[in-house]
Amino acid sequence: MALIRLGFGRQHLRPTKRRSFLLLKLIAAVFAVLLFCEFLIYYLVIFRCDWPEVKTAAQNSGQQTLKAMFLADTHLLGEIRGHWLDKLRREWQMERAFQTALWLLQPEVVFILGDIFDEGKWSSPQAWADDVERFQKIFRHPHHVLLKVVVGNHDIGFHYRMSTYKIKRFEKVFNPERLFSWKGINFVMVNSIALEGDGCNICSKAEAELIEVSRKLNCSREEHHSGPCGGEQPLPASAPVLLQHFPLYRRSDANCSGDDAAPLEERGLPFKERYDVLSREASQKLLWWLRPRLVLSGHTHSACEVLHGAGTLEISVPSFSWRNRNNPSFIMGSLTATRHALAKCFLPRENAVLAAYCVAAGLLAALYCKLLASPFLFGWNLLRKLKTT
Ligand SMILES: [Zn+2]
Repeated sequence: MALIRLGFGRQHLRPTKRRSFLLLKLIAAVFAVLLFCEFLIYYLVIFRCDWPEVKTAAQNSGQQTLKAMFLADTHLLGEIRGHWLDKLRREWQMERAFQTALWLLQPEVVFILGDIFDEGKWSSPQAWADDVERFQKIFRHPHHVLLKVVVGNHDIGFHYRMSTYKIKRFEKVFNPERLFSWKGINFVMVNSIALEGDGCNICSKAEAELIEVSRKLNCSREEHHSGPCGGEQPLPASAPVLLQHFPLYRRSDANCSGDDAAPLEERGLPFKERYDVLSREASQKLLWWLRPRLVLSGHTHSACEVLHGAGTLEISVPSFSWRNRNNPSFIMGSLTATRHALAKCFLPRENAVLAAYCVAAGLLAALYCKLLASPFLFGWNLLRKLKTT
C-alpha cells in the first residue's frame, strides 16, 4: 500500500508540471499573437513603403524637397453612433498606423483632408471636447512635424447644417489658414462645404478668401511686382497644390481603377453635385482662380485619379479608417517648387489580421484541448495501474 502511495505522489508531480508548462505556452502564444496583430504588423507593412523620388531638371536641382503625407476621412466616432468596441478598435488601429508611419517614414508635414470626426456636425460642446482630446492623442506628433487639417462635412455639417459656431469651434482647434507655403511650395486649403454658390454669408466669405489667395498667387507668377502686387512679401513662384474635402466635379467613379477604387457595382452610380462632389461651377472657379498643379481630396472613401481641364491631376485619397475600408492607405508625396512624385502606402488588411486571429484561435483551442485531456489521461492510466497491482 505504502509503495502504491509513494508511486502516486511521483506520478502526480509529473502531469502537474506538464500542465503548468502547457499553460505557460498557451499564455505566451496568446501574447505573441496579440503583439503581432496589434503592434508588429504595422511596422512590417509600413516598412515596405518608400518616399517616391522627384525627377528634377538639372537647372532646378537646387530646389528643396518636402516630404508630405496625405490622409483623409478618419471619422473618429462620437458618443451617438458606433459601438464602444468599434470605437476602441478603430482608434487603436489608426493610432498605431499613424505613429508607426511617423516613426518609420519621418514626414515633414501631414495633411488630413476632412471628416476628422464622425459627429462634429451635431456633437454637444462636451462631446466635441472629448473627440478633440482623443484626436490629439491618436495623431500626436513631434514639434518639427506639422499637422494641417482641412474641414469636412462630418466636422461642421453639409451646407444647410453648417453654422458659424461649428466652423469657429473647428478653426479654434485646427488653424484656419487657407494658404500655407513651405520650401517654395504653396498649398491652398479650401472649405469645400462653403462652395455651394448660393451667396450665403459663409459662402461669400469663403469665396472672398479664395479670390484673395488667387490674387496673391497671381502676384507670385508675375516677374515685375507692381500695381496691386507692389510692396507685399511675394509668395514662392509655384503653382499651388489644392487640398479639399469634396472632390472636384466628376460624373461618377466609372473611370477609377485599382485595388482600392470603389466597388465595381458602385462605380457607375452618378455623383450628386454639392453632396458627393463639388458643383461644376465651383470646380471651374477653383481651377480658374488657383490654377493648381495637383488636387488632393477625400470624402468618397475610395481611390481615384482624375484629369481635369488642361491636365490637372486630382487624387481621391481613400479613408484612413478600417471602419470604412478593408485596406486603408495614405499618400506619400515628395514635392519641390515645380515637380512632385506620389506613392501610396497601404496599411495592414483587416481580413488578413482576422485570418491570423482565426488560425491562432484554432491552434490555441487544440492546445487547450490537450491541456484539458491530460488529467483524464492521467486518471485513466492510474486506474489501469491500480487494477494490475
Ligand atoms: Zn465627407
